[in-house]
Amino acid sequence: MSVPENPGFNTRAVHAGQDFEPLTGAVVPPLHFSSTFAQDGIGGLRNGYEYGRGANPTRDSLQEQLAALEGGTAAFSFSSGLAAEDSLIRAIARPGDHIVLGNDAYGGTYRLISRVLGEWGIGNTPVDMSDLDSVARAVAAGGSANAPAGGGKTRIVWVETPSNPLMKITDIAALAAVAHEAGALLVVDNTFASPYLQTPLALGADVVVHSTTKYIGGHSDVVGGAVVVNDPELASKIGFVQFAVGAVSGPMDAFLTTRGLKTLGVRMDRHSENAQAVAEWLLERPEVEAVLYPGLPSHPGHELAAKQMKKFGGMVSVQFKGGEAAARKVAESTSIFTLAESLGGIESLMNYPSEMTHASVKGTELAVPVNLLRLSCGIEDVEDLIGDLDQAFSRISAL
Ligand SMILES: *Cc1c(COP(=O)(O)O)cnc(C)c1O
Repeated sequence: MSVPENPGFNTRAVHAGQDFEPLTGAVVPPLHFSSTFAQDGIGGLRNGYEYGRGANPTRDSLQEQLAALEGGTAAFSFSSGLAAEDSLIRAIARPGDHIVLGNDAYGGTYRLISRVLGEWGIGNTPVDMSDLDSVARAVAAGGSANAPAGGGKTRIVWVETPSNPLMKITDIAALAAVAHEAGALLVVDNTFASPYLQTPLALGADVVVHSTTKYIGGHSDVVGGAVVVNDPELASKIGFVQFAVGAVSGPMDAFLTTRGLKTLGVRMDRHSENAQAVAEWLLERPEVEAVLYPGLPSHPGHELAAKQMKKFGGMVSVQFKGGEAAARKVAESTSIFTLAESLGGIESLMNYPSEMTHASVKGTELAVPVNLLRLSCGIEDVEDLIGDLDQAFSRISAL
């Protein structure tokens, strides 16, 4: 097969790291479950394979595919998004160092940084990432907020854009400049956008992290995480922690993730199309106080999102005039939207963040409004999704 010189996204998604197997011509590379690899004499490794924690061909093929799609030179696949985040932070930060993160970061990320890594002396300051002046102040102040005595240097600026679940958009290129000015690295959690919609490394970010559990896996059947970088020195530090800590993805998980990733582009087109239609429908409803979707011209981050993203993605958040009671009633009245944690699968999901995904940040400054529902719009027929919401909404008019 002759491969074009600069293959497009979908061509890379289908082919990167997916060479057919030379012995039989099997088009799908076989899965390698072996935990260890025979040596031709002591130290005589075949293609570098020694032991499954260090490297496994099925994981390698996923890592190659991830690097090709994010435009990085190296990718590392982990057993979950949080495992990826933990190994990444351990590779960069030391006790006394500081992390500045979005004040609407994913609850699990904040829990990891504040309650696990905080115990090991890594400080943090949550800030509004869309306000670059306050980010710059927090980065410069370093550990003055809650690092151990003496304060710490800010090593990492950590952003999600679009953010979860408030759908705020942050200017990645501008934020990279703020981080680099202070000698910090910019980490972008690209879970919500996926590399089909947004490639942060090309905009100046140093690291991309993913919960591959979401859009990358895409079918709600595998938990995983990834880190992608384009700096060889950083890659070797992360590779060392991945090997030394061992939070790697197993071969079956890596295979399922690779299989999902091949169709990411077609799925994201449909997710984005459905979410746009759902958001526009919500906007017209009298029960709705606010629709948070960057594809709406009324969204404060609309123009920025149009500039740094290819489309606006499949996630929509909605706030109800009827407060917590209305949000809870809708969450418990749909039949196609399944009430469940997680997002990014082909099936539509509904989540009540303040009690579900973001329960761990209740009572902190990261707490989520109680009248907010988060919708992960799947790839079903959009008339059915809207019909499902319509019948659920009819139950709150009586409240
Ligand atoms: C789910 C999620 C994570 C955590 O990933 P896991 O795979 O659940 O460990 C991190 N960031 C974002 C934005 C997420 O949605």
